Amino acid sequence: MIPTLIAQTNGRNGRAAYLPFGEKRDGALFNQSILSVKQFSRADLEHIFAVAGEMRMMVERVGSFDLLNGKILAVLFYEPSTRTSSSFIAAMQRLGGGFIPINEVKYSSVAKGESLPDTIRTLEAYADVIVLRHPETGAAALAAQYARKPIINAGDGVGEHPTQALLDLFTILEERGGIDGATVTMLGDLKYGRTVHSLARLLSLHNVKLNYVSPDVLRMPRELAAELDARGVRQFQTESLDDVLDETDVLYVTRIQKERFANLDEYAALKDSYIITPATLTRARADMTLMHPLPRVGEISPTVDSDPRAAYFRQVEYGMYVRMALLAMVLGKA
Ligand code: ASP
Repeated sequence: MIPTLIAQTNGRNGRAAYLPFGEKRDGALFNQSILSVKQFSRADLEHIFAVAGEMRMMVERVGSFDLLNGKILAVLFYEPSTRTSSSFIAAMQRLGGGFIPINEVKYSSVAKGESLPDTIRTLEAYADVIVLRHPETGAAALAAQYARKPIINAGDGVGEHPTQALLDLFTILEERGGIDGATVTMLGDLKYGRTVHSLARLLSLHNVKLNYVSPDVLRMPRELAAELDARGVRQFQTESLDDVLDETDVLYVTRIQKERFANLDEYAALKDSYIITPATLTRARADMTLMHPLPRVGEISPTVDSDPRAAYFRQVEYGMYVRMALLAMVLGKA
C-alpha cells in the first residue's frame, strides 16, 4: 500500500518531506531514540504498557497486522543475542514491517574497520529505526549523535538495557497486577549486569524496596545506589539470599557476566555463587514472581521451570509486546 501524503513538512536538506497518513508527530516517543531508562517518567511507562497491552491483545486475536507496513528496522548487533534481536524482528514482522538483520558484524563492513558512525549513517539510509547492541557503554548515545533516525539501545556493554527493563516491569505488572509496594530482590552479577542497572532505575519511579544479593566483588555500582538513595529508594545489600528471601515479592536472578571478566579464574570462582532450586522455592512466598532476563547458565535449575512462580519464559513473550509498542510509538503509529 502506498501511504497517503497528507501534509508537507520541512524536510532535511531543504527538500520537502511528507507525513504519511496516520503518523502522530506529537505522540509520545515519536522520532525519539531510546538510550537510557533515565529518559522515562512514570507517565511514559504507563503509556508504553497500555500500548503493549493492546499489542498483546491484537497478537492473541489476529497474530499480525499492518500497522508498520512499509517501515524498515535495522538490527545491528556487535554482541551475541537471542531474545533481544529475534523479539525486535518478530515485533516488526507482526506489525507488517520489514527488517535488515546484521547480527554477525564480522560478516559486515565492520570487519573491514568501518566506524560505528559510518555504519549507522549507512543503515539509516535504508531503515526508519535502528536497534543497536554494542560492547561499549555509551555506544548507543554516540550513534544517536550521528543519526537522523531513532536509535534504540539494545544493550551498551555494562551500561544499560532499557528495553529489557521495560519488559521486566511489564512482566511484573502483568504477573502481579501492580508494582507499587513490592519488594524486589536482584541476585547475581549486579556489577556487570546491565539489565539490573536499568531495572533498578525504572523501579525507583515506584514505591518499592530493593534488595541486592551478590558476592561482595559484584555489588550494585556505588554511583547507581547513591542515585537511587538520593531519590529516597529503600535499598539493602547482602551476600546471602536467606537474609531477604521471605520478604521477597519478585526475585530477579541474573547470570555472572563471563564476558566482562579479564580473569576467567575469577569468573570460575564466582559462577556458582547462587543456584535457585525447588528447595529454595519452598522457603519463598507462595505468590513470589521468579524472573531472569536469560540466558541462564546454571543459576536457576531447570527443575524449577514447572513451578508456577517461574515467570522467565512468560517474560520472554512479554518482551515482544513491549518491543512492538516501542516500535509503533517511535514510528508515530501508536
Ligand atoms: N540478555 C541479557 C543482556 O543482554 C542478560 C544477559 O546476557 O545476562 O544483558
